[in-house]
Amino acid sequence: MRHVIIIGSGPAGYTAAIYAARANLEPLVLASSVEAGGELMNTTEVENFPGFPEGIQGPELMAKMQAQAERFGAEVVYDDVVSVELDGPVKKVTMGSGAVHEASSLIYATGSAPRKIGIEGEQRLSGRGVSYCATCDGFFFREKTIAVVGGGDSAMEEATFLTKFASKVYVIHRRDELRASKIMQERAFKNDKIEFVWNSAVADILGDEAVTGVVLENTVDGSRSELALDGIFVAIGNDPRTHLVHGQLDLTDEGTIWVDGRSSRTSVPGVFAAGDVLDPTYRQAVTAAGSGTIAALDVEHYLAALGEAGAPDATGDQIEGLPEADAA
Ligand SMILES: Cc1cc2nc3c(=O)[nH]c(=O)nc-3n(C[C@H](O)[C@H](O)[C@H](O)COP(=O)(O)OP(=O)(O)OC[C@H]3O[C@@H](n4cnc5c(N)ncnc54)[C@H](O)[C@@H]3O)c2cc1C
Repeated sequence: MRHVIIIGSGPAGYTAAIYAARANLEPLVLASSVEAGGELMNTTEVENFPGFPEGIQGPELMAKMQAQAERFGAEVVYDDVVSVELDGPVKKVTMGSGAVHEASSLIYATGSAPRKIGIEGEQRLSGRGVSYCATCDGFFFREKTIAVVGGGDSAMEEATFLTKFASKVYVIHRRDELRASKIMQERAFKNDKIEFVWNSAVADILGDEAVTGVVLENTVDGSRSELALDGIFVAIGNDPRTHLVHGQLDLTDEGTIWVDGRSSRTSVPGVFAAGDVLDPTYRQAVTAAGSGTIAALDVEHYLAALGEAGAPDATGDQIEGLPEADAA
């Protein structure tokens, strides 16, 4: 049986693996088949991860994180987890291949997925003008004309934030009123750079190498029109990947995994969460990595408190029965 299994190979999973491996816990990372490396595999330039002043391509950053975890003894398996049994002292994980892995502890770091519009050009031009993260990509749209799709708080926040860079920001919304809170609406209405396109859905995204515009469909009369754009930010919601643990772990009202205060401890002893799957707000690579650190340190303390053999602390020394809440 393993000391720790980590589900997920994004910044949270690999950072947890680096810490757990350096603590001689020989973590098993279940990386998934086609989505190994997580969300950053879908992006090009990452300019805000510390330590890379020139920026780094998303897939290269993830390859470096994986290499760093493997260097210290993490084992990475490219397969999807299809079910988990989290109750009791032994955590059981079943893979798509049928293989079953068992461990004394588990870190759940499956991330979250931005909701997609679900049209052809969206996937093709993702990272080439189609974005799901204003904080990540706003900087690339200086003096450009862009649009935000959505009518909730996060759409208003992204639109307002993007006016720092773009010369013009359209907000495309299906209805003639917003879901966003009054204060967020007022802030957006007052902003001269923001123009609302009401009763409109994006029917197609245009462009060969990069976004050049969108086809809009009027949701009232079905008429179509084109709008020239340099970029489009999709802000229609985000779904934490929690389906494997429904009914086993407590969730928050926002649908993220509930954890105890600033720790990574979930509602089930021995099960820890990290990264975007527990974060309704920040959702950045570096915050996910920090969260992976917390989870690995909490696992070390948990195993040490169990008195499990071979559960040394990060310095290589044995921890003698640390109190349960003594997280970093
Ligand atoms: C297009 C795009 C661009 C972005 N650009 C930036 C940026 O420039 N800078 C920045 O800081 N942030 C950026 N972000 C946000 C950043 O990618 C996330 O905050 C970060 O990846 C979250 O890390 P995570 O480890 O929690 O989850 P993820 O990176 O989503 O990783 C989750 C992992 O869990 C695995 N998984 C899920 N289900 C299973 C299963 N059943 N079995 C096995 N494995 C499973 C997935 O395969 C994946 O490996 C961007 C996001 C997107 C979508």
